[in-house]
This record gives sequence, C-alpha cells and structure tokens, in this order.
Amino acid sequence: MKIIILSRGPRLYSTRRLVEAAESRGHEVRVVDALRSYMNISSNNPTLHYKGEVIENVDAVIPRIGASVTFYGTAVLRQLEMMGVFPLNESVAITRSRDKLRSLQLLSRKGIGMPITGFANSPDDIPDLIKMVGGAPLVIKLLEGTQGIGVVLAETKKAAESVIEAFLGLNANIMVQEYIKEAGGADIRCLVVGGKVVAAMKRQAKEGEFRSNLHRGGSATLVKLTPAERKTAVKAAQIMGLNVAGVDLLRAERGPVVMEVNSSPGLEGIEKATGKDVAGMIIEFMEKNAKPHKTRTKGKG
Ligand code: ADP
Ligand code: MG
Repeated sequence: MKIIILSRGPRLYSTRRLVEAAESRGHEVRVVDALRSYMNISSNNPTLHYKGEVIENVDAVIPRIGASVTFYGTAVLRQLEMMGVFPLNESVAITRSRDKLRSLQLLSRKGIGMPITGFANSPDDIPDLIKMVGGAPLVIKLLEGTQGIGVVLAETKKAAESVIEAFLGLNANIMVQEYIKEAGGADIRCLVVGGKVVAAMKRQAKEGEFRSNLHRGGSATLVKLTPAERKTAVKAAQIMGLNVAGVDLLRAERGPVVMEVNSSPGLEGIEKATGKDVAGMIIEFMEKNAKPHKTRTKGKG
C-alpha cells in the first residue's frame, strides 16, 4: 500500500513508530505536513499538492492532526477522502471528537456513563448550573483544551462561581462537571483499534495534582480492565465513528465514566507502559480495511 501520514513532526515518537511499522510490512509510507499541503477543489477532479508536487495514487492516510490545526488539517484529510483515499479516522469523526461538549452529548444519547456535565452561557445561570452538577468541588473545562491545560478544580462554591464568571467574561466556552473524587487523580486510557481495546494504561497524577495527563507529570502503568470498562471504551469509539481512538475513563463508584475520546492518541505512553506494538496493530487494521472510496464522508459535510 501507499500510505500517507499527515503529521507535522516526522521525528515525533508516534509518527516514527507508524512509519517503522508500515515499512516493516512492506508498505510505502510518506509523512506529509498538512499545513504545507494545498488543494485544488474543482469539479470531478479534486487534487492535493505538497511543496509543488501532486500527491497521487495514495491508498490510505493516517491523520495525526494536532488540536491547534484541526480546521486546516481536517480540510486536507477531507480532500484525500474526496480523492477516494481510505482514512484511518474520518475527517468528520475527528472534528466531532475535538469538541468535548459535542462528544458528551453524542455519548449521552447512547447511554454511555459520564460525569454529570452542565453547559451555560449567561452568568445569571451560574448558581443553578453549580447546583445541577452536585455543587463544589467541581471541575471546569475549556471545550477545546488538551493536555490538561484549561481544566480547573474548584474546591468551593465561591471559587467555582468566580472562575466560571471569569471564563464567561472572556467569552470562553466552558463546561462544568461533577468531580469524580473517588478516581483519586487517576484515569484509564483505553486504546481502541477497529472495535477492540488493544492496550490500556492507568495514569496517575503526581502528588498534589488531580489531572493525570502525562504532560502534567502523571505516570503510566499497565492496568487490567473490567468487562464494563472494555465495553464502554469500545462503544464510545464506535459512537464517535473513530476506528482508532484513545478513550479516557474515570473509575467512578457507579462504574466507568467517559471523560473524552481522543482521535489522535499518542503512542509513546501506551506502548511503553504496556509493551504492545500498537503501531503495528494500526497498520494491520489499515491492511484489512483500506479499500478505495471506503469512507462514509464522501459527499457529506
Ligand atoms: P484534556 O483534554 O486537557 O486532557 P480532560 O478532560 O482529559 O482534559 O481532563 C484532564 C485530566 O483531569 C483528566 O485526565 C483527569 O485526570 C482529570 N479530570 C478531568 N475531569 C475530571 C472529573 N470530572 N473528575 C475528576 N477528575 C477529572
Ligand atoms: Mg485528557
């Protein structure tokens, strides 16, 4: 197969591992920076160009689109989809998963467990919003934050009110969430590939921190999932329409709750914590599924 990896960093661990896994299986692979790609959107003949060259005869594309370049990155991916290239994850699914609120709304419709979450626009509604999620302590989140930035724990009602007021005053889109205290600063990352959890790790926040992100100093260890956790992760990825996803769960008293579904999950933490060849499994999935024009996105929004 001829595979393109849409990534800004050929030297990043995940990109390197995917290149390695593809090449070792005899595929031709090329890393393309989405921001240096440009498109010709003409009737019946959409083309993609890269540094003066036309990109042609590609079978499959692995999008590794950073949160800060979602708009342009998904446009390039969509162009490839229009050309009949098989995407590991579809552009619509990536766009969907980048908005935490939209994701939770879609998951709630299908009965997936999640922290009680509220969303409001007017400062007048703050007291009721706080009550709705069960009062302080509570978590306040920017809708488009990543790596733990933009996630705040408000310990008291007073603190919650002033932080929410400040965010709304800045016109930031935030959601307010029940704090799952019993998770003890840990979350579970489930790596789903093609409808199966292929690897899972527990991330524990460092001392004095509630956010378990590895970028925030969290540490990862191997974890054994319960059947309910496995089922929740698989279903969440499926609802989001993602073939490959990093589904993050919290262990709440009432069972697993989904925090977010990541469409470009990093491979370094999970491969190192579990010793699994996740990159290899991703390429294997592509081998089984990459057929030209096999994307539901074609012609859709
Ligand atoms: P990001 O996209 O920035 O990673 P998350 O929603 O994943 O944002 O939150 C970051 C971390 O904060 C999580 O990994 C988890 O450890 C902690 N956290 C987030 N929401 C809650 C919550 N409702 N209850 C308890 N801990 C939470
Ligand atoms: Mg997270």
